[in-house]
Amino acid sequence: MKPFTYNALPARVVFGSGTIAEVATEIRRLGCSRALMLSTRGQKLQIEKLASRLGELCAGVFSEAAMHTPIEISEKAVRKLQKTNADCVVALGGGSTTGLGKAIALRTGVPQIVIPTTYAGSEVTPILGETEAGVKRTLRSPDVLPETVIYDVDLTMSLTAPLTVTSGINAMAHAVEALYAKDGNPLTSLLAEQGITAMSKALPQICQDPANKAARTHALYAAWACGTCLGTVGMALHHKLCHTLGGTFNLPHSETHTVVLPYAIAFNCRAAPEAMHTIARALGVEDPARGMYELAKSLGAVTSLRELGMAESAIEEATDLAMANPYWNPEPLTRDSIQLLLRQAYAGESPRSFR
Ligand code: NAD
Repeated sequence: MKPFTYNALPARVVFGSGTIAEVATEIRRLGCSRALMLSTRGQKLQIEKLASRLGELCAGVFSEAAMHTPIEISEKAVRKLQKTNADCVVALGGGSTTGLGKAIALRTGVPQIVIPTTYAGSEVTPILGETEAGVKRTLRSPDVLPETVIYDVDLTMSLTAPLTVTSGINAMAHAVEALYAKDGNPLTSLLAEQGITAMSKALPQICQDPANKAARTHALYAAWACGTCLGTVGMALHHKLCHTLGGTFNLPHSETHTVVLPYAIAFNCRAAPEAMHTIARALGVEDPARGMYELAKSLGAVTSLRELGMAESAIEEATDLAMANPYWNPEPLTRDSIQLLLRQAYAGESPRSFR
């Protein structure tokens, strides 16, 4: 066995069905009494319903969370937190809302309770990506790690099939990269394999019957497992590319992950054989890159950057950006190989080896 260093992250996780009823108890458990409630505009009604249930424990509602955590919105939310004398935040939603809660915690130190409604996994990571003047920067700090996470499968029942699929594949991307992470460890690898297995089994069942609560429960469990991998070890080519594509070309987050993942797996196939073996076993396939591609395609996901609205002429710039800040990846990065990866992802063709 290779030597390793493992850093466990503190988190209190409440998982189940109907667990949203625990929010009041969890606010008090943190020693707090006035929560600022956060959501996107699309989930405003949901957060207002929760706010009215909380009564005096709710200090106010802020429903302007947006993709990629723009700092103007975070600063506006901080002003609201201060004006309402709130002493904690309750973020209900996907990664965008969780991101807003983290940005507030970073600036004020208030504790966070996160109620995830997608599979993005941000709720269990000490990572925050913020956008300022169109540039997205990522920081890693224990100050942004949420104190409490309440997973309630009932809240994920409304996730549409397309978002279920892309969000689920976004989660699997964390586990895939954890399996070949430079700072990987046996515990994270176990979680990663479990996460990929559970998510890849649950997604087809959910697409077939969106009301399948058992499958939704497995998907949410997988989201926690995969998110924990993202929080514990470093990511590589796949996450860096998606970060560039999302931040610079404004491509949608989980859809971009879904398109790029099979090509990132193919790219690293030869350099990370043990990880590839585990991914293939978890997916129940021979070829992990093609297996991930076929899974996405069979579930009706968009499989090309072209369909996501990226211009072909942007491939050059994306390649330059991907090469601008060198980072570790199992397979060494060259300009030609990154460009080939992006060309394949642009066209959405079946992934093949990059050598
Ligand atoms: P999102 O949070 O933007 O949600 C997408 C849309 O779906 C929103 O309009 C939202 O209101 C809606 N929605 C969410 N849950 C729903 C539900 N159950 N039913 C119906 N509609 C629902 O998307 P996301 O993919 O969850 O998160 C993306 C963002 O999270 C990106 O900014 C990304 O960078 C960030 N992220 C950060 C980390 C991290 O560790 N820092 C990890 C993953 C993602």
